[in-house]
Amino acid sequence: MNKPYKTFSCQIHFSLSFDKVMVKILIIGAGAAGIAAANRLSENRFTNFTILEAENRVGGRIYSVKFGNAFVDLGAEFCHGENIIYDLVRKYNLLKPTEMIFPQLCHSSKELVRQDIADELFKAFYTIYMAPKQENQSFGSYFDQKYREIVTAHFQDKSHCKGLALESFDLFKKWVTSYEGSFSWYTPTIVSDYQICKGNHLMTWQGNGCGSLLKVLTKKYPAIEDKIILNKEVTDIIWDQDEAVVKCQDGSRYTADHVIVTVSLGVLKEKHQSLFYPPLPNNKETIIRKLGMDSIHQIFFQFPRRWWPVSEFIGFSFLWDEEGMDDLKRNNADKFWVKDLIGLFCVDQNPNVLEAWFSGEFIPTIESLSEEIIIEGIMFVIEKFLKDRFVDIPRPNGFIRHNWYSNPHFRGGYSHQTIKSRESSTEIGMSEPNILAEPLCTSSGKPMVLFAGEATHPIYYSVLHGAIETGFREADRIIAYYK
Ligand SMILES: Cc1cc2nc3c(=O)[nH]c(=O)nc-3n(C[C@H](O)[C@H](O)[C@H](O)COP(=O)(O)OP(=O)(O)OC[C@H]3O[C@@H](n4cnc5c(N)ncnc54)[C@H](O)[C@@H]3O)c2cc1C
Repeated sequence: MNKPYKTFSCQIHFSLSFDKVMVKILIIGAGAAGIAAANRLSENRFTNFTILEAENRVGGRIYSVKFGNAFVDLGAEFCHGENIIYDLVRKYNLLKPTEMIFPQLCHSSKELVRQDIADELFKAFYTIYMAPKQENQSFGSYFDQKYREIVTAHFQDKSHCKGLALESFDLFKKWVTSYEGSFSWYTPTIVSDYQICKGNHLMTWQGNGCGSLLKVLTKKYPAIEDKIILNKEVTDIIWDQDEAVVKCQDGSRYTADHVIVTVSLGVLKEKHQSLFYPPLPNNKETIIRKLGMDSIHQIFFQFPRRWWPVSEFIGFSFLWDEEGMDDLKRNNADKFWVKDLIGLFCVDQNPNVLEAWFSGEFIPTIESLSEEIIIEGIMFVIEKFLKDRFVDIPRPNGFIRHNWYSNPHFRGGYSHQTIKSRESSTEIGMSEPNILAEPLCTSSGKPMVLFAGEATHPIYYSVLHGAIETGFREADRIIAYYK
C-alpha cells in the first residue's frame, strides 16, 4: 500500500511533536487498562483523549458493589503479590494480606474430613500444580498421568488420605479450571509464560472493593472522569487513513491520531472481523483464535445470620465421591450444575455473606439460571454436605452476581494460553501476548491502533496488575512516538 496519507502523517508527526494537546487519542474501554492508559497520558500532558465505554459504568472486570455490610467484588477481587497495584496503593493502606488457610473439606458421604488431612490434600495438589513443567500438554493430560503416581508416593503410608486424595481428583480439576479461567482442563497448557509475583498472593481490599484502585488512579487526574463516555459501543475501527475513524452502535463517529483498544480477548474473538478495517494481520488473527478465554462464576449470598464457624475458617470446599456423583446424576439431574461449585467462602468485612465459586463447563448454564433456581441448588448442596453439622441453616435473603460470559462486552473471565496457541506462537517465533500487543502501524511507522488489556501482557496476562501495566505501556508507546 502506498497511499498519500503516509507522507502526510510524517508531516503531522513533525509539526505536532511540540504540541501534545493536538494529538487526538481514543481509548476503547474504561476497564483497568483503559484507565491506566488515560492516567499515563494525563501525567505526560497528552490531554486530548476520549474514552469510549460500551457499558453504563466504569471499571470493566473491576466491579465493586455495596452488598451487605461492605463492598463485594463481582470481578477482580484479590491483589496477587507485590506488583504494580501494590505499589500504586501502598501509601493508602488499602490492602490486607490473607493467611494461607485451606478451606474445610466436606465429603458427599457427610463424613467429616479432618482439617489436617484436608491441608495435606491441598498441599499435595499445589505441589503438583506448581511444579516446573516442560512438555506442551494440557493440565488434564498431565494430571491424568501424574496425579495417581504422585498421590500414591506422597501418601504411601496413609491409606485413608490416599483414598481421599484419589477422590479429590475432580475437585482439583475445578481448582485448576478456576485458576486458568477455562471450562475444561484439557485446553490450557502447563507450560505457559505466566509468572507469579513475590509477596502475599491473596491480598484483599478490606471490604472497600477493588474499585478503590480505580479511585486511586483517577484521583490524581480528576479530569479523566469527564473524558469517559458511557454506553458507547464501538463497532468499527477504520485505520487505513491518516486519521483513524471509529464508529459506534448509536451512529456516532469519532476520529483520532491513535486508538488504544483495550477490549477483552473474548470480545476480540467474537468481533475482530467486523471491528477492524483493514482486517487484522494473519498472525494476530491466529493467536486471537487459539488463545483461550472461558469463564468462572462468583455469586454472593447474604444470610439472615452467620451459621458457619467464626474463627480459623475461610470456607467450605465440596468433594463428591463416586456414589454421591451417581446419586446427583440419577436423582437430581436438574441440579447437576452444582457439581461445578468449588466452594463457599467467607467475605471480608461481611459477616453474613458467603461467596460461591464455580468453574467448569456448566458456567453458561449457571449464568442462564434464575436467582430462585440458584438458591434452590445452593441449599441442596448445603443440606447434603452440612446439615448434620449445623442446625437451622437459613435460606439466603440476598443474592448478587455478574454474568461475565454472556455479557457481549466481556465474553468471559480472563485469558489463558492453550496447547494450540503455544504451537502457533512457536511457529511464529513470538509469544502470544507479544503478537497480540503489536500495534497496527502505517508504513511510516505511526502506531494507529494500539492494543492493551490483560491478554496482551507477556507474563502477567489474565490478572489485574497485568492489565494496568499494558495500559501504561501503550500510553508510553504514543508518548515515545512524539519524542
Ligand atoms: C470473576 C473475575 C474474577 C477475577 N479475579 C481477579 C483477581 O482476584 N485478581 C486479579 O488480579 N484479576 C482478577 N480477574 C481478572 C481482572 O479482572 C482482569 O484481568 C482485568 O480487570 C482486565 O482489565 P482490562 O482493562 O484488560 O479489561 P476489561 O476490564 O474487560 O476492560 C475492557 C473494557 O472494554 C469495554 N468494551 C468491550 N467492548 C467494547 C466496545 N465494543 N466498545 C467500547 N467498549 C467496549 C468493556 O465494557 C470493558 O469495560 C478477575 C476477573 C473476573 C471476571
